[in-house]
Amino acid sequence: MKSWIDALARTRAALANGIRGLFRPGSVVSREDRERLEEALVSADVPMWLAGKLLDDAAAARSGVPIRATVEQTLLSAFASKAAFSWESAVKPRVVLIVGVNGSGKTTTAAKLAWHAKRRGLTPILAAADTFRAAAAEQLRKWASSVGCDVIAGAAGADSAAVAFDAVKAGVSRGADLVIIDTAGRMHTKQPLMDEMGKIRRSIGKSMPGAPHETLLVLDATLGNNAVAQAKVFHEIVPLTGVVITKLDGSAKGGFIPAVNKELGVPVYFVGLGEGAEDLAPFDAAEFVKGLLGPEA
Ligand code: GDP
Repeated sequence: MKSWIDALARTRAALANGIRGLFRPGSVVSREDRERLEEALVSADVPMWLAGKLLDDAAAARSGVPIRATVEQTLLSAFASKAAFSWESAVKPRVVLIVGVNGSGKTTTAAKLAWHAKRRGLTPILAAADTFRAAAAEQLRKWASSVGCDVIAGAAGADSAAVAFDAVKAGVSRGADLVIIDTAGRMHTKQPLMDEMGKIRRSIGKSMPGAPHETLLVLDATLGNNAVAQAKVFHEIVPLTGVVITKLDGSAKGGFIPAVNKELGVPVYFVGLGEGAEDLAPFDAAEFVKGLLGPEA
């Protein structure tokens, strides 16, 4: 699996110029240092409330007193919710609905989750409820065969709610641990998406009362702050239980992640660190902070 340090290289580079002045041993943090820091924080999409705290840390720094520990603490304290995705559950199957706009990495994330479930000795089923693109079902079939799990897919143009219904039924009858449902992510206007999501969720609930147990939003990290805006729209449409942030490895704007947690009140469960099935890591605030700041000099 790719590492956090590698995946955050571009965001760290965006911050480096601003942070260098803070961590210079034995020197005062000058006004120029603080200005450079502010610019760097903005360019990495660090939310304003957090940037303000970091600038306060810099302003309060005294000559010769290293402030790395203070900065680390400020960054860590930005993550209020530490909830983790729970793989084990008394409920079987656990139904996980994956939502997000096209291209955000939904299908890949569904497959990665199935791969990790298998590694834990669980039996996942993948469901292709994205019936608008014929290629989507094909892509998920390929993933299922490489992961080694069952896949439920309808014909192109089939009713996505019916596919989701069948997948949950199959999960119950086959004794699966997890049913992971990939959905379509057209987001031209809010109403059709809302109708579609409502229909899928009702259909899943009919198939298994209480399901879906998790609704995960997949967000593309290369969008930076725009991903936060997207998340707010989705959260109004479907109540989210968690977020997965993909393509952290390709983003220079990874500084937005604390905003997802704080402004939506929803935990970031996983991050995508690469394209491989194994490249999905549970979100870890300490690794994130280390990846942003780089190794101590
Ligand atoms: P969907 O339309 O939302 O289902 O998106 P896909 O799963 O098809 O992913 C779109 C593209 O993003 C594909 O080329 C994936 O390989 C790529 N992708 C998904 N997650 C990641 C990630 O964490 N890192 C990188 N580098 N690429 C990713």
